Amino acid sequence: YKPNYCVVCKIVNCERLAMTLSGFCHECDQFPCARLKQLDKRYRNKYHSSLVGNLRDLKAMGPEAYMEREDVRCRCSRCGTVICIHSDACQQCGLVLPGRI
Ligand SMILES: [Zn+2]
Repeated sequence: YKPNYCVVCKIVNCERLAMTLSGFCHECDQFPCARLKQLDKRYRNKYHSSLVGNLRDLKAMGPEAYMEREDVRCRCSRCGTVICIHSDACQQCGLVLPGRI
């Protein structure tokens, strides 16, 4: 499947990630690797969301339950459009989401 938002869109160009079945870091035998931990630190400061935490949840809950939760979390409360975690406003209706960034 392909998620329609980008929880992990910052993790690119990882040769190990390309080898995982799901395309998510939690399947990697080096999870959580130094690179991911470093990214996680920046991510938590910037987006108030833990990348490693998200991936642990994904691993624990399984992809379907996880996606369902994220789907709810990532939708605009006004129009229901899926909003990327990296944006602070809805692209569709312009609703600003305070505390996101
Ligand atoms: Zn909206």
